[in-house]
Amino acid sequence: MSTSGRVLVCLKQVPAPGVVAFDERTKRIRRDSGAAITNPADLCALAHALSLRDALGWEVAVVTMGPPAAQATLVDALRRGADRAVHLLDRRFAGADTLATARAITRLVEREAPDLVLTGRWTLDGATAQVGPQVAELAGLPQLTQVVALHTGDDGRLRAEVETDVGTEDWAIELPALVSVGRGIEPPWVVDAADATAIETVTADDLGGGPRDFGTRGSPTFVVEIRPGRSMRSTEHGADAPAAASMLAAAFAAAREDLWPATYAAGPASPAREIWAVAEPLPGGGLHPTSLEALACARSIAAELHSTTVAVLPGAHSSDAPRVLHAHGADRVIVLGDAGLEEYATEPFTSALSAAIIAGSPFAVIAPFSARGRDYAPRVAARLGLGLTGDFVALEVRGADSDDPDLLWLKPALAGSVLAPVIAHTTPSMGTLRPGSFPVAAVRDEGDPQVEVLEPAAKAADDRCTPIERRVENPDAPHLTAARVVIGLGPGLDAATRRAAERLAQATGGAVAATPAAVAAGDAPRQIEIGPLARTIAPSIYLGLGRHDPGTLRAVTGAGQIVVVDPDAKLDELSGLADAVVTADIEPVLGDLLELVAAVH
Ligand code: FAD
Repeated sequence: MSTSGRVLVCLKQVPAPGVVAFDERTKRIRRDSGAAITNPADLCALAHALSLRDALGWEVAVVTMGPPAAQATLVDALRRGADRAVHLLDRRFAGADTLATARAITRLVEREAPDLVLTGRWTLDGATAQVGPQVAELAGLPQLTQVVALHTGDDGRLRAEVETDVGTEDWAIELPALVSVGRGIEPPWVVDAADATAIETVTADDLGGGPRDFGTRGSPTFVVEIRPGRSMRSTEHGADAPAAASMLAAAFAAAREDLWPATYAAGPASPAREIWAVAEPLPGGGLHPTSLEALACARSIAAELHSTTVAVLPGAHSSDAPRVLHAHGADRVIVLGDAGLEEYATEPFTSALSAAIIAGSPFAVIAPFSARGRDYAPRVAARLGLGLTGDFVALEVRGADSDDPDLLWLKPALAGSVLAPVIAHTTPSMGTLRPGSFPVAAVRDEGDPQVEVLEPAAKAADDRCTPIERRVENPDAPHLTAARVVIGLGPGLDAATRRAAERLAQATGGAVAATPAAVAAGDAPRQIEIGPLARTIAPSIYLGLGRHDPGTLRAVTGAGQIVVVDPDAKLDELSGLADAVVTADIEPVLGDLLELVAAVH
């Protein structure tokens, strides 16, 4: 592998967790007030870059697009070892959505021509996970997202381990390429004095392009208003096991309604303004559960618009899938022809879905905010120039009976402290749905699905990016994200407690998750990790057992009830983040709870 390579690492400055700074007037996050940090996943990207430099002697440059205060992120990166830094600094960049951000970064990528562009998986504030794939699409680079390990190969390609919703995969990728990383190396940072002259400022004029390329004017989406998100919880504290168990049983009983699937009334169907939901087959059969949630969401909106719900299904699916989608409300199923879709890869999926959207002109396209959805949806949106709302939790129609209805994609931001309705100027508009946000229900018992097969014009393989091995390690993990009851394991719980937690999950039709510390300690697989770097979930009840840090609880902020049972809980840390903290021993609480739940269910 060449020793004269260059890596460009994309860094974003974000508000420190717990610090909310939102400008009510402009509806934008204020980056000039409150404590700010470098986005944690971006530091992982920097660590990967520095290790490539150690191995190959490559140059490491970093870039951020942001206001003057964002320079602190670049200084920090230089102190941690980056060779040089670029600050995309111009009022014309302000108010950029992900596509306008990606356009500016892409211009820099074209100017710098690095061998490798590294980004974080997602940010702590916007958290759309869109900028990386959108840069890759606009720059014409192959991409791998959700990478957890990166090595040099002896054939001039990089080897990457990719995290999926069910396991891990090994890929080889040809350079130049873009790789987004979520975690991996946490090096002992060597922090030196920074050379401020190593920071170059680049303006919109330096990058070229027209006034509609960058900032607000170049953005297909905009935040309409800011609604308060889930406010701080008033945390109860208890230390008594039986009282805690009966309090939890009451919460389970209260959430029972919510655990029951809703049904929708079918409206008169009209072919216009179709709402599409992308269905993702899981390796080994079945559909990703969030596919059916996306369909439920599509159906509720189609009903308001007196329109049609369409499921879009890649060619490689189980023979039962169209029937399942029909039963869950799809008026029509579009099967994307098979070529290149037997197993997931970015380009065939992106190109088949893009072609289907062009041919079918839907009003909206909803995809799961799954590992796959985060990989292809931003790329499709960038290819077609469409507005995409990442990780939305609800969808509203404004002016349903007017000639020009608007869709408001409701997106939590800043760890759920605000809820932002996002509108796109484009038709269709797109969104990726946060798992666990919509109840799933079969709405039809019988009848044959109406199936239409769209054959691709040509096989769209991308030879620059090839799979080496795919491992399905936790086939049930996707169901965690859709579970209404989640039992979260902290680190260091003994086997008996973990088994009791499994039993409780089974008894409630729920699932088991684990904190980052539990995964790091080897107590649980990473496919069930929740947390700021892993996944966010929104169950009706989150019951945390053992140590839970504030970051983990922020990742379940959309939950109806959050209860933590930990004899050593730090009450001041968890205050406002949980509804109840119980400082009793875990085992008796679980025992009592299993009995009480058996009585309720
Ligand atoms: P992500 O896509 O999550 O970031 C992935 C990686 O890209 C980062 O880890 C980092 O490596 C790199 N990166 C991201 N931003 C920068 C940067 N400025 N400089 C250098 N590298 C960077 N925009 C949309 O298109 N759709 C939305 O639904 C949407 N919702 C929003 C909701 C709210 C409340 C707000 C305030 C903004 C929203 N935006 C949305 C705008 C979006 O947050 C910004 O465009 C932001 O600059 C990039 O998006 P992100 O934070 O989601 O980054």
